[in-house]
Amino acid sequence: MATAVITGISGQDGSFLAEVLVGEGATVIGLTRGSTNPGDFEHLAAIADRIELVHGDLADPEGLSRTLSELEADEIYHLAAPTFVPASWEDPTTTFADIAGGTAAVLRGAGDARVVVASSSEIFGDSEESPRRESSPTWPTSPYAAAKLAAFHLVRAYRKQTGVHASGAITFNHESERRPERFVTRKVTRAAAAIKLGLEDEVVLGDLGAVRDWSAARDVVRGLRAMAQQEAPDDYILASGRGRTVRELVQAAFGVVGLDPDRHVRVDPAFVRPPDKHPSVGDPAKARERLGWQPETAFDDLIRTMVEADLRRLGG
Ligand code: GDP
Repeated sequence: MATAVITGISGQDGSFLAEVLVGEGATVIGLTRGSTNPGDFEHLAAIADRIELVHGDLADPEGLSRTLSELEADEIYHLAAPTFVPASWEDPTTTFADIAGGTAAVLRGAGDARVVVASSSEIFGDSEESPRRESSPTWPTSPYAAAKLAAFHLVRAYRKQTGVHASGAITFNHESERRPERFVTRKVTRAAAAIKLGLEDEVVLGDLGAVRDWSAARDVVRGLRAMAQQEAPDDYILASGRGRTVRELVQAAFGVVGLDPDRHVRVDPAFVRPPDKHPSVGDPAKARERLGWQPETAFDDLIRTMVEADLRRLGG
């Protein structure tokens, strides 16, 4: 049976992917920078006794490469990274080192493993082509996005020059009840639940007209898995192909609890970001054709699941 290493295993994507791989009978080893006790991580509860954690830190690229080459895995999924885009302006150097340097370390330590590296829809930024394809021009507009693009080019360079089986997953926004609350989907689903339960009265948001291409994280990790299984490494956009506004998200979430969003949503300029020049929507045609991958969870079902999970969490 295959041995798979996941960096970022305790996060949303890493934990869902670990569940898929464990279900397939793979030996799963996660890299974490803190505790190596799976019981310490909320998202790993379902598989805590079936995975192993070892120490690995993006801030220590030498150690990361060494650990990976010693593990001699069949597959490496590199998902660990700072994830919140606006925060990358506060600490651009660490963001760059963790994302680009961390990816270089993983690729250097990869050996014969098949590597899948999480890239991001953010690499397209101000690029005019939308929906975005694998071949679309890139124009990053934040340190986070520039770092993700550098990491993506490292994947391509290693693949071409060294023959490493490395693939880049250009994931668009993907969500679940495991998404941290600073992201807009969870912020809204949690607020809808809290307001329904009478714990809060309003939610303060930014640009309601902003467009994102949202899929379910559970679907996206199946795409990562399919990429590692391909004979030839390549880059793929993993997206739903459909853009929705934050306003539509709000309506979906408040609809689940039967509340009128106009009575509870307030817009504060503090949360409004510079507007996107072109909508962040992906074209998943290549993944569909070559990987046979497509999202299976409808947007409304995704949001319903998230609101219901928040109702359970907050309702006790
Ligand atoms: P991102 O796409 O990785 O930055 O993920 P987010 O979940 O943070 O979604 C950000 C999008 O939602 C951007 O277009 C924001 O302008 C928009 N948005 C509107 N209101 C909010 C808010 O209150 N919080 C966040 N995080 N985003 C908001």
